[in-house]
Amino acid sequence: MNRLLGWRCSVCGATYAPDEIEYVCPRHGDAGIVDAVYDYAGMAAATPRAALAASGNLSMWRYRPLLPIAADAAAPPLHVGGTPLYQAQALGAWLGLPNLFVKDDGRNPTASFKDRASALVLMKAQEQGASIVTTASTGNAGAALAGLAASIGQPTVIFAPKTAPSAKVAQLLTYGATVLLVDGNYDAAFELCLAASKEFGWYCRNTGYNPYTVEGKKTAAFEICEQLQWRAPDAIFVSVGDGNIITGLHRGLQDLLALGWIDRLPKLMAVQASGSSAIYNAWASGADDITPVQATTVADSIAADLPRDGLRALRAIRQTGGKAIQVTDAEILAAIPLLARLTGVFAEPAGAAALAGLQAAMRDQGSAIAPEATVVLMITGNGLKDIGSAMKASGQATIIEPTLAAVKKALKTIQVR
Ligand SMILES: *Cc1c(COP(=O)(O)O)cnc(C)c1O
Ligand SMILES: [Zn+2]
Repeated sequence: MNRLLGWRCSVCGATYAPDEIEYVCPRHGDAGIVDAVYDYAGMAAATPRAALAASGNLSMWRYRPLLPIAADAAAPPLHVGGTPLYQAQALGAWLGLPNLFVKDDGRNPTASFKDRASALVLMKAQEQGASIVTTASTGNAGAALAGLAASIGQPTVIFAPKTAPSAKVAQLLTYGATVLLVDGNYDAAFELCLAASKEFGWYCRNTGYNPYTVEGKKTAAFEICEQLQWRAPDAIFVSVGDGNIITGLHRGLQDLLALGWIDRLPKLMAVQASGSSAIYNAWASGADDITPVQATTVADSIAADLPRDGLRALRAIRQTGGKAIQVTDAEILAAIPLLARLTGVFAEPAGAAALAGLQAAMRDQGSAIAPEATVVLMITGNGLKDIGSAMKASGQATIIEPTLAAVKKALKTIQVR
């Protein structure tokens, strides 16, 4: 059952009834991002923790009683969420962290974490009878919206920077979305999408601006805690662009704490690319507001001049005692084969950035992670999304004549791992 009491503005604290606003607190233009307010007592009484497992549902809808949707709303049929949490023994041994886990969200239907948000947003769009749903995206949010929309026959218009990796553009086109590649960056696409949604009356999924994005993303935090038998980990490393995923994890963990299902909040460790580090900069300087940067990084999914959910991301880091970490593109690229070779999980650059951040945190005395800590790496996107970056990190294959002699010759210079 839907236990949503209303919305609270993350900027000014004003509260609204569930249907009083569509997206944001009207006092701050498009920046008044709102948080859901829940009746936790009612929620806890209606849904004992054990009822989740009893539902038998293995997707994100296992947590349906904790989500702001009507009991009779139909979810898109694709299997979103319920992604594996692997104990990463070899990588953990290599890093000196025996309790290291990898949450593989590249296993989602369109191969990124963004499916969690798009699935819930589409239910809301359908509830409102939206003719067209739109979003701005560096690639993954659009692919997620396009794929899930295809599963329910919902038309979409996607705005992405023209520099988006071709695999992501291929997804958009193949799912049948109307694709507008903007001759500009993600921030330009974001503003244009907002303007178009207002002009044409389209339902807008834009990250952060649409309050249901975070509500869908919360489910990853629910899964991590349940997969660890309801013992919250000590730290979760997650890459950060707009700051909506880390905010989603924070909101989900706060829900679980309010319900009494976990007894403390894990430290949320925000990993940014050094070329797209607006949130890191604010955290490192103790600032309360975010100064935009000119973002350039190989990790396209976390390239954002102005993080749209930056304020809530800063709060997620500070309120959990976490840290912001910046890593170079070289460190991000090096983390792709390291993760793949020691866990079998193939991540796109923004996904592998979580591992690069953990390595950086362990190098840095002040942010050292205790060896016995339970640490989760949130892997947000699949490596097939950006094979160009993977090839840059992993080198070229050897081409040989089709003879055994050629194999023998090649093996003299190649080490078999
Ligand atoms: C969107 C995305 C992120 C960052 O999420 P934000 O909400 O923008 O901070 C990280 N990794 C991948 C693969 C993504 O698609
Ligand atoms: Zn406000």
